[in-house]
Amino acid sequence: AEFDTLDIVVLGVILLGTIAYFTKGTLWGITKDPYANAFANANGAKAGRSRNILEKMDETGKNCVIFYGSQTGTAEDYASRLAKEGKSRFGLETMVADLEEYDFDNLDAMPSDKVVMFILATYGEGEPTDNAVEFYEFITGDDVSFSEGSDPALQNLNYVAFGLGNNTYEHYNSMVRNVDKALQKLGANRIGEAGEGDDGAGTMEEDFLAWKDPMWAALAEKMGLEEREAVYEPTFGIVDRENLTVDSPEVYLGEPNKMHLEGTAKGPFNSHNPYIAPIAESRELFSAKDRNCIHMDVDINGSNLSYQTGDHIAIWPTNSGDEVDRFLDIIGLKEKRNNVISIKALEPTAKVPFPTPTTYDAIVRYHLEICAPVSRQFVATLAAFAPNDEVKAEMARLGSDKEYFHSKTGPHFYNIARLLDTVGKGEKWTNIPFSAFIEGLNKLQPRYYSISSSSLVQPKKISITAVIESQAIPGRKDPFRGVATNYLFALKQKQNGDPNPSPFGKTYALNGPRNKFDGIHVPVHVRHSNFKLPSDPAKPVIMVGPGTGVAPFRGFIQERAKQAQNGATVGRTILFFGCRKRSEDFLYESEWEEYKKALGDSLEIVTAFSRESSKKVYVQHRLKERSKEIGELLSQKAYFYVCGDAAHMAREVNTVLAQIIAESRGVSETKGEEIVKNMRAANQYQEDVW
Ligand code: FAD
Repeated sequence: AEFDTLDIVVLGVILLGTIAYFTKGTLWGITKDPYANAFANANGAKAGRSRNILEKMDETGKNCVIFYGSQTGTAEDYASRLAKEGKSRFGLETMVADLEEYDFDNLDAMPSDKVVMFILATYGEGEPTDNAVEFYEFITGDDVSFSEGSDPALQNLNYVAFGLGNNTYEHYNSMVRNVDKALQKLGANRIGEAGEGDDGAGTMEEDFLAWKDPMWAALAEKMGLEEREAVYEPTFGIVDRENLTVDSPEVYLGEPNKMHLEGTAKGPFNSHNPYIAPIAESRELFSAKDRNCIHMDVDINGSNLSYQTGDHIAIWPTNSGDEVDRFLDIIGLKEKRNNVISIKALEPTAKVPFPTPTTYDAIVRYHLEICAPVSRQFVATLAAFAPNDEVKAEMARLGSDKEYFHSKTGPHFYNIARLLDTVGKGEKWTNIPFSAFIEGLNKLQPRYYSISSSSLVQPKKISITAVIESQAIPGRKDPFRGVATNYLFALKQKQNGDPNPSPFGKTYALNGPRNKFDGIHVPVHVRHSNFKLPSDPAKPVIMVGPGTGVAPFRGFIQERAKQAQNGATVGRTILFFGCRKRSEDFLYESEWEEYKKALGDSLEIVTAFSRESSKKVYVQHRLKERSKEIGELLSQKAYFYVCGDAAHMAREVNTVLAQIIAESRGVSETKGEEIVKNMRAANQYQEDVW
């Protein structure tokens, strides 16, 4: 056949369009995300790099890629640990990769002498993490198609899978389950079991350790790998920058990215780029002597940040000075804390998790989770660097014997410095390469809080309601204290000119790097959530929020009071609130009266005080007492909300609700449970639990 010019032009345009489609624009250096450049600036990431994983592996000589789908960083940390272990024990050439950074339509061309690992967290109500959305939709899609077109498509693909989930959620580990199913369906070969870690039971770390050993054995057999004596090799090199000091302008002293360093911080503010927000107001909410809870208003005026009632705010904490000191002291770096260093990845695919040049002090204070529980695998790694043979043997035993480890460490709430101090009997651990801490400790994570204000009432001021984490430890003078909440408490103390700014012997660099947080500021970003009021205010709402679970409901009630003031018809609004004693921890007691002025009798606060009588009364008991009314409201399509403790309260409320429905509709309890499930699916039942 002959083509005329127009045909050729048309064909050319179609061809270009097709290439553009399949390459997602990478040939033109177009990045898929309009904000990618802003992120890149914030992250130091390189724009326009290849999204072709095969090419990347060939270029860097890798035969094993570990993809992670991570929201808070745990899955990413597990991926890095697998990469490290694969290399040191089996000589695998490993790399870690963010699912978001690659395309997957050439997975079918992955040769069978390579292996792909998927470490996938399930987020919220069974959703993929943000960075895994595209991959998830692609691989589980009905019309998934690959470049080679063989059948079955993924017959050459060898893969390994581990999921991170929480059994208190309805869709436990649905990410890894669904991805595994999809890969099986496409003919891929799984090596070992698809592992599942359970944060709800608090066994994530042990689930991971128990899963990985048989997986390595199966992988070694499948790929003919020889296990060798694992010798520690650092992933990062530490370079002393003797010509720089803490006063050099290019040195990061805790600034989260380049814009913050240069004083040009601007939006979009997000999980890579916090807004340094002024705190407008802060106060104590409890009147109990030994427990604290704070209310804080964060000012987001002029930041371009916005929120909707029911969203979450992330707080970027700073480690306390006493813990930073303890850590630097035990590893012998106290004297060098302000020395300037650069961190270099010794391995082309490894990423330095924070900006450099920087100082040891800044790394430990702003970037590493130094107070968290210690991983048993990390203890095993550190054994090699013990100060003497006796300590080395003890570390090796702790690292390899699960029962022994938990009996020795469990009751003490050790963090890494306390553990090294105890096991080493006070000797300093000066032989540990600093790289081991960058690899073995998690990145310091932002903590999330359910916003306790209404965006209709105060669009530019975000309220937080946070209980201060503190637990007495038998045999220890100072209690265990949570990282973020005690930092917030210290900010509150300072703001209110409290004579005791470090109430629990905790000190914080509240002014931040180069005094950039001075004047009472805290780094934050906002995360959107699906926890939302019905769009029609006339719909009745039932809210169950004991303790700090009341946070989002303060926002909901504020909002409905405002809607009523604006002339809207607002439906019945019932809050079930529980705490210990009316006189101690009844949150926002006086405010509820204010909202009643606007909402009248349609607002009711039903209270359950657990320590006011010999019989402990909880919110679920109150719910039961109100069965009849709740049944009726639900038949009028009331929305039902639960917020707070995921492990116990939310489960029990769920069960009670199914019973109430069963009773009021004259059906079986199983049927009642099914109705609750359907309500969830229809968003008529919503949870915000942690
Ligand atoms: P952390 O230092 O993170 O400690 C938390 C817990 O981890 C400790 O209690 C302890 O059990 C364990 N732990 C930590 N270190 C060790 C160790 N070395 N050994 C043994 N155990 C250890 N909280 C609120 O108060 N109000 C809210 O509105 C709210 N909303 C939330 C919404 C969401 C979506 C989520 C996910 C959480 C929410 N939280 C809320 C909880 C909040 O994010 C924090 O987890 C909480 O404030 C504790 O933070 P922290 O840094 O003070 O404690």
